[in-house]
Amino acid sequence: MSDIKRLYQEVIFDHSRRPRNYGKLDNYTHKSEGVNPLCGDQLTIYATLKNDSQIEAITFEGSGCAITTASASIMTETVKGATQELVDKYVNAFLLLATEGTAALEFPELDLAKLEVLSGVSAFPARVKCATLAWHAVRAALSDNSEIVSTE
Ligand code: ZN
Repeated sequence: MSDIKRLYQEVIFDHSRRPRNYGKLDNYTHKSEGVNPLCGDQLTIYATLKNDSQIEAITFEGSGCAITTASASIMTETVKGATQELVDKYVNAFLLLATEGTAALEFPELDLAKLEVLSGVSAFPARVKCATLAWHAVRAALSDNSEIVSTE
């Protein structure tokens, strides 16, 4: 295994064991649920928007595999403080990165270093659904789509 792959695995392991921004958010303004029946992942995203356009706080809770949990943890760190417009860009970039393995050319303006630890899932279609669940869910939460997001 290459050093970079080993590093990526360590980062994923760390986020899955000690997820950041985990738990229910008090006084949230936006919420959504995501399920991935194939793997049994389910999570809830809570967010508070400032001035109706910027993420002031974001958390998640639920139960999922290591990939789902790590990706949700990394997602919350990435979008915290971002405007809705920027969140949308990050979601698009991550969906591309998770399926193609990279998104640097299409989104040169974004810092994707943290997200790239999950680029390895692109080789495993079933794991792409785990990795992208939180990103679909945050988009649904911000669009006031209260329906449950499902990968199936
Ligand atoms: Zn999973």
